[in-house]
Amino acid sequence: MNQYEYIVAQADEMKDRLTATRRDFHKYAEAGWMEIRTSSLIARKLADMGYEVLVGEQVCKRESRMGVPDEKALDARYETALSQGADPEYAPYMKGGMTGVIGILRCGEGPTVACRFDIDALGVYEDENDSHRPTHEQFASVHNGVMHACGHDGHATIGLGVAKILMGMKENLHGTVKLIFQPAEEGVRGAKAIVDNGNLDGVQYFLASHITDKAEDDPAVVIPGSYGSLATTKYDAFFQGVSAHAGGSPEKGKNVMLAVATAILNLYAIPRHSGGVTRMNVGKVIAGSGRNVIADSASMEIELRGETTEINQFVEDYAKSILESSAKMHGCTCELKLMGSAHSLTSDAVLIDRVRKVCEQDLKLPVAKMDSSKNGGSEDVSYMMNRVQEQGGQATFMRVLTKTSAPGHNRRFDFDESVLPNAVKIFCGVIYDILS
Ligand SMILES: [Zn+2]
Repeated sequence: MNQYEYIVAQADEMKDRLTATRRDFHKYAEAGWMEIRTSSLIARKLADMGYEVLVGEQVCKRESRMGVPDEKALDARYETALSQGADPEYAPYMKGGMTGVIGILRCGEGPTVACRFDIDALGVYEDENDSHRPTHEQFASVHNGVMHACGHDGHATIGLGVAKILMGMKENLHGTVKLIFQPAEEGVRGAKAIVDNGNLDGVQYFLASHITDKAEDDPAVVIPGSYGSLATTKYDAFFQGVSAHAGGSPEKGKNVMLAVATAILNLYAIPRHSGGVTRMNVGKVIAGSGRNVIADSASMEIELRGETTEINQFVEDYAKSILESSAKMHGCTCELKLMGSAHSLTSDAVLIDRVRKVCEQDLKLPVAKMDSSKNGGSEDVSYMMNRVQEQGGQATFMRVLTKTSAPGHNRRFDFDESVLPNAVKIFCGVIYDILS
């Protein structure tokens, strides 16, 4: 049996265990920076397999984390996570939103390969109808309003499957493997903090994937690359003015309502860009306190996107100027808090070719005809890919294909779990091809 056959046999053999792990993560879904149970169990499993395990401050740079929930919510999650079987040794490292885990396998001289597996759920109420499989088979989320509706429960599981097989074949590997279990991908909040900690420095090869829907009769199990993911920036804006009696002394007030209204209209008036598509959205505004009061405070949630990092920067600079000027125009102030950001991304053609070759020739897995799939949204894996690429390394963001029951972020999302062993084979096969 050659090493590729070993990988295929091992992955097929662990299918039931992978399914059970995925369903456990699905049931105890945790949102970004709250993945305490999830992270602690991943750390425990990696340590038991023999991995060098990084947790807490070693994974994310504290100040680089974006969109971290408030202390109270984090503390509450910590207590609940412990009662739900979080690992008592590792959980304390994750307190206060320091989630995420990195497992390292050192096999002597050779290149370093890093893989990213995102682990967070998102704010979706899971369907309670019995026709939704997770509900019917009793692994629906026990956390109301938090659901793995994007398949990251599967991604975390795939990472653990990869870890297990690579450890079993470490005598045949030459180099280093870094398995990065990333928190807070939703809202593009987590990857930058891992990059800022230097965890992608010295990495020559980088692999990541996302579970993606395919047609029932399509035999392909993977699209080896991606392109076109939009660069994005997300801000919370806080406007401050001065309240006053709306009838008795309106001239004494500084009205944030006017500042906000001026800002909204002008944000949507940011010019298009000849270099590519742009997006701008004001998604939420809370302002004022009552009918007869000049409003003195407001908060606004906005997001900006661009086809490339440069185009997004253009939109972002314009938006900042509008927010500040609108506030100033009416004697108010505006403070911005960065809540998330991602760059655009492109997979390297040589690595795409390598994934195709390994899958088709060595693993006997069918690959999609297209090399790269266009990414409509945004993905902060771009931070990791760009870091590797700027050091001269190769990176790809693959699509592992399977039948899903609903689009991503839908309350009826679920997927055919045969994708789990298939994805494990692809990661292990490519890593072996690089490190053999
Ligand atoms: Zn996702």
